[in-house]
Amino acid sequence: MLLNTNLSLRPATQADWPAIEALLLANKLPLDGAQAHLDTYLLAVSNGEVVGCAGAEIYGRVALMRSVAVAPGLHRQGIGKLLLDRLIHDAQRRDTVRLYLLTVTAPEYFAQYGFKRGKIEDAPQALRASAEFQGACPAWAAFMSRALHVTPRRSEALPVAILGAGPVGLAAAARLLERHIPFVILEAGKQVGANLLDYGHVRLFSPWQYNVDPAMAKHLAANGWQAPPAADLPLAREVVERVLLPFAALPEVAPALKLNTRVIAVSRECFDKVKSAGRSESPFIIRAVQGGEPIELRASAVIDATGTWGTPNPVGANGLQALGEAEAQAQISYGIPDILGSARARFEGRRTLVVGAGHSAANALLALAELARQSPGTTLTWSVRSLSLTRVFGGGSADALPARGQLGASLRALRDSGALAYISGLRITAIKLDAGQLTVTGLNAQGEPVTVPSIDQIICATGQRPDLALTSELRVKLDPWLESTEALGPLIDPNVHSCGTVRPHGHRELAHPESGLYTVGVKSYGRAPTFLMATGFEQVRSVVAAIAGDLEAADRVELDLPETGVCGIGTADSSDTENSCCGDAPVVATAAVASPKSRCCG
Ligand SMILES: Cc1cc2nc3c(=O)[nH]c(=O)nc-3n(C[C@H](O)[C@H](O)[C@H](O)COP(=O)(O)OP(=O)(O)OC[C@H]3O[C@@H](n4cnc5c(N)ncnc54)[C@H](O)[C@@H]3O)c2cc1C
Repeated sequence: MLLNTNLSLRPATQADWPAIEALLLANKLPLDGAQAHLDTYLLAVSNGEVVGCAGAEIYGRVALMRSVAVAPGLHRQGIGKLLLDRLIHDAQRRDTVRLYLLTVTAPEYFAQYGFKRGKIEDAPQALRASAEFQGACPAWAAFMSRALHVTPRRSEALPVAILGAGPVGLAAAARLLERHIPFVILEAGKQVGANLLDYGHVRLFSPWQYNVDPAMAKHLAANGWQAPPAADLPLAREVVERVLLPFAALPEVAPALKLNTRVIAVSRECFDKVKSAGRSESPFIIRAVQGGEPIELRASAVIDATGTWGTPNPVGANGLQALGEAEAQAQISYGIPDILGSARARFEGRRTLVVGAGHSAANALLALAELARQSPGTTLTWSVRSLSLTRVFGGGSADALPARGQLGASLRALRDSGALAYISGLRITAIKLDAGQLTVTGLNAQGEPVTVPSIDQIICATGQRPDLALTSELRVKLDPWLESTEALGPLIDPNVHSCGTVRPHGHRELAHPESGLYTVGVKSYGRAPTFLMATGFEQVRSVVAAIAGDLEAADRVELDLPETGVCGIGTADSSDTENSCCGDAPVVATAAVASPKSRCCG
């Protein structure tokens, strides 16, 4: 049989066991103990059919490789090599220091991959309890091993650099404190939580119980801090005032915090992006601007928690600024201005166009509607690119966060009341400034021109995107369109998720080919809009455990996330409603490698 079709690799699931069992039997390989380790098995799949497998049983920082099998008739076509290369690569990523195996028939084959014969008496104790050692393999099997080139242990002398002192960056600091790992926090703002303060007037939809990192709470409580009432909904600025500022002021945190310090680039000492040999032993170099002066720091690892709030998406529907958008800047607010507070004069008695279909747009529209009630002459127009508002209207009473459900429900009521002019399916292409007023033009869903004249102000609430310049000299791997970490992309892609619920994940999904670099917090989601602080707190618990070399804790990812209640409704944007997701899958899950784009929610 010849392999004449595309071959791909994917992780195995329990459902694959019959296919794996057949492969092992066909190759006369032992079955004992294999099924218990399927979560670290890789499969080669061709035309939907499993044509090869390879597994690793992980015992702390060593692993037993086994079950390397290819379908009869497909040998010598490179399938085994593909599987082994990937398995070895994954083991390196996981900080495995040595791979072992037992083989009766193929010692020469494994020798090509650098495995050397050894004395079975030298096998680590952990391996001896495995099924293969307990008799599944005959006594005359060759015992072989190969050392892996792994990330060196973190230099004790150098701190871990946390970029950004938002809720997730500070939660990382709390976890590093727990593990007595030195750190430095570099924050662009003049205060911690600078982005939350920018929309400090917005009432969050998640109650306090989801907004305080447990490790931060522990450190604070040891200093006499009182936790806010778990069920209350804070304003964004209250998270800063009641949690982030007191935590940052703790004597074990304050000396490590560098405010007014904007990181502009990260690299590795004496290594540009291309140079490989010895790369992972080289410290990170963080270049920042502090009080107008350039500074450089060295770090053993980097946790990028700089968020996305500073790089908003434009008004233009194609992701580029609309023609004329730059010239109209003075009349465009990106984000959520304090319409009923400090920014009132800007909107009172004016006609404002709100662009976007997320929670920020909902907040802005509801505030504008209130201003219109208080101040006649204030008018509001809402334009959205999509024809469906399923996601912004949300799950209503089905949302596990009632305030999030209520936000969508209130917006729906506002739209239905006729208190705003509503334009759906508008793809904005140009903004023209003329005599102090803006004329917005674009195309409707049929591709016909649409003009929205006489606009005084625009609120652009089209979301944010990550600033990729910071790490452009490092080896990062991103989802091609979301710009999230690569492994997270399939879990959060709004094209295939009708729900905003994302299953828990940890250090493996947040790492990059650049060892020691992790992207966490809302930045790890790239352009996807569904991030919750609680997710970030769990992310950094796992990442810091991985940095500390405690892989057992790092891989144990558990988190109860509130469901959006939108699951299964489907949207016009995600045309394949079969992809609308969640089903009966539990929301609590353990960390896993990336799953295909059609899967979601765990
Ligand atoms: C309007 C709104 C409402 C939200 N409501 C909720 C909610 O109810 N519940 C919930 O769980 N989540 C909510 N979120 C989502 C999310 O939890 C928050 O965005 C949260 O603040 C993300 O935390 P973070 O630490 O990842 O990033 P951020 O809070 O954005 O923090 C990033 C920090 O990095 C700093 N920084 C940026 N660039 C640099 C640089 N180059 N150098 C140094 N420092 C830098 C920033 O100044 C900032 O302090 C909401 C988001 C928005 C926008």
